Amino acid sequence: MSDAHPCLRCGACCSAFRVAMYWSEVDDRGIDPALTRKLDPLRVEMRVTDTASLRCIALQGTLGVDTHCSIYAARPSPCRELQAAWEGGTPSPQCDRARARHGLPPLTPEDWPAPGSDC
Ligand code: SF4
Ligand code: SF4
Repeated sequence: MSDAHPCLRCGACCSAFRVAMYWSEVDDRGIDPALTRKLDPLRVEMRVTDTASLRCIALQGTLGVDTHCSIYAARPSPCRELQAAWEGGTPSPQCDRARARHGLPPLTPEDWPAPGSDC
């Protein structure tokens, strides 16, 4: 098991789903409006770098190798709600689906440090 958080070696869910939010969340969280586009009268979504990959414009790095969110502190609610599989001891079908889409195996409990361990 690497010491790095598994999400920092992944990024698959940032390139698998459209990330929509209520329009006021942009101001409330301090998200740069230029990173979003209007979806409907009530919602905006994060822009993607191309519609085929759905890679979020805020995702930095190489997917599956070394990634991070460039607006992590301000990331929208759908990003906050998506749990990495087994991080809290429970499975996450959404995480598994995103990783499978990019040819990555699902996370397992062994990808996380045991409670009380130093790593
Ligand atoms: S797909 Fe799962 S492991 Fe990958 S970045 Fe998203 S939550 Fe983390
Ligand atoms: S805003 Fe950040 S966490 Fe959310 S999809 Fe984009 S890169 Fe991922």
